[in-house]
Amino acid sequence: MIFTNSKNIQLCCYCGTRKATTKDHIPPKSIFNKPRPNDLITVPCCFECNNEASKHDEKFKAYLGMHVARQGGEAKRLFKEGVLPTAKHNNKLRKTIFDTMRPVYTTTQSGIITGKAMSVLWDSEAHDYTIEKIIRGLFYHHYKKIIGSNASVKTHWFKQL
Ligand SMILES: [Zn+2]
Repeated sequence: MIFTNSKNIQLCCYCGTRKATTKDHIPPKSIFNKPRPNDLITVPCCFECNNEASKHDEKFKAYLGMHVARQGGEAKRLFKEGVLPTAKHNNKLRKTIFDTMRPVYTTTQSGIITGKAMSVLWDSEAHDYTIEKIIRGLFYHHYKKIIGSNASVKTHWFKQL
């Protein structure tokens, strides 16, 4: 089933108002290591929403990759093969990351110091935008309905799961 307006035009699943002329991967395909799975979810979207999403995808990948790198395995590979090349060519993003970089001690939950690490402030602009896009896209994918611009999506931060 495809969501269309009264003129039978497929609409963008993000804005719900413009004609869908392209498809977007959710979550962004850039957060998957190569070779990427061949069953990634795509949703219909307009050029404007796709273009806006692309601006945030790279930054989202960089912050996500930095956050999970210590977990090793595929997460570490995402950092090495996805984040580092991005930081190398994207001067603005690299500068933003370095400007907020601070040395910190890592601790256990009870406060025992276990080592040193570098921290950066997470850029919530890219995070919130991308998370909202994923929610709207997955909603469309599963229910074949567009949430639309009348509904707001809010992102809340938790220190721990
Ligand atoms: Zn749109």
